[in-house]
Amino acid sequence: MTATNLLGFDLEGLVAYCEGLGEKRFRAVQLFRWIHQRGVADFAQMSDLAKSLRDKLAQNAEVSALRVLSEQRSADGTIKWLFDVGNGDAVESVYIPEDDRATLCISSQAGCAVGCRFCSTGHQGFSRNLSTAEIVAQLWFVEHLLRGEGKARDQSGRVISNIVMMGMGEPLQNYAALVPALRTFLDDHGYGLSRRRVTVSTSGVVPMIDRLREDCPVALAVSLHAPDDALRDQLVPLNKKYPIAELLQSCQRYLEAAPRDFITFEYCMLDGVNDAPEQAEQLVKLLKGKVPCKLNLIPFNPFPASGLKRSPRERVLAFAEVLIRAGIVTTVRKTRGDDIDAACGQLAGEVQDRTRAEQRMTRAPVVVHRRPSS
Ligand code: SF4
Repeated sequence: MTATNLLGFDLEGLVAYCEGLGEKRFRAVQLFRWIHQRGVADFAQMSDLAKSLRDKLAQNAEVSALRVLSEQRSADGTIKWLFDVGNGDAVESVYIPEDDRATLCISSQAGCAVGCRFCSTGHQGFSRNLSTAEIVAQLWFVEHLLRGEGKARDQSGRVISNIVMMGMGEPLQNYAALVPALRTFLDDHGYGLSRRRVTVSTSGVVPMIDRLREDCPVALAVSLHAPDDALRDQLVPLNKKYPIAELLQSCQRYLEAAPRDFITFEYCMLDGVNDAPEQAEQLVKLLKGKVPCKLNLIPFNPFPASGLKRSPRERVLAFAEVLIRAGIVTTVRKTRGDDIDAACGQLAGEVQDRTRAEQRMTRAPVVVHRRPSS
């Protein structure tokens, strides 16, 4: 019989599992705290659990981490891990320390089926969804490893203060596994993170944005990358299914329940593709007064298969200037972990592509039809 990995349960799931073993709810709470707050995997060490329960758990369950294939530490403090998820697939997580926070970027899928042109994960194709246990295991491992190394902790004793679901994969295309993972991150008996400090980043899976609003509203980041459908269709193919107008409507609905009063729009700056001042003006028209938002401009991290180039810094700043003058809060993301390929869009892992992405994804140049500026 295969052991059940308890990292795959949120608290309610663990309560149900323990009830199946004839145990009361408070035992599940104790167990959940041992696993997530104290990082203990060995049931024998869970000293306030009855011996009979420890024996039952030892026979039926496990707390199983992912196998680490590699760990790379950047000069700027960023750390990237490559985790084995079986059958030749591997996923990455990235720890990004800053003065006032420490963020963990977590993967949700082995590969990704969305196929964004500027993303090396997208170019790798898709293998499979991660399970809840595989998503949670990334935080469980990193949090307790870094505590053991004596990394700075916040007032609540955590090393990781922020989670971004921005690693490999489109989290909203793995919804069933994502939501219990988010609940574990938020649970006071788990990691106790506030909803504002947990961000789901999506390329725009509109029906699932609506479901997330109902089931587990956390901060939302949306990969926009273009001010019009013609260009976004080419950069983010999911746009053909859920065009910008629909996406923005779902963002407006999301804000009714969101823990923050704005949506973060991610915009990857691509030289000569989406970085002209008139495209910034288009963005202003699209967003201003319609969706309370922040714009996060991301320097593109080039990789050969993309056929795309990073926008020069002065062009990024000119683009930001247009947005800022129009009153839209705009930041330019600092690139971190450049020396270990840990920056946004560089996470590639190792994926058994079951989608023939390389064959599907066109190498044709991105066609830009610019409107004359008015
Ligand atoms: S940017 Fe996100 S949604 Fe697009 S291909 Fe990469 S991982 Fe998938």
